[in-house]
Amino acid sequence: MEQHKHCQVCGRPIPVDETFCSEKCREEYEDMVSKRKKRMYVVYGLLAVLLIVIFARYMM
Ligand SMILES: [Zn+2]
Repeated sequence: MEQHKHCQVCGRPIPVDETFCSEKCREEYEDMVSKRKKRMYVVYGLLAVLLIVIFARYMM
């Protein structure tokens, strides 16, 4: 049986030494990752604000 894996974006079979089947899928994947990263920053930002609010209440 020939060894292969699947494109992480569309699931098409690709050679083992490749990660994506096309440039389009690579761009799509990088776009997805950067969106996820941005969302993480938003979550951390909200947590920081929450901590500051709690801290400020303790100081009053
Ligand atoms: Zn693909």
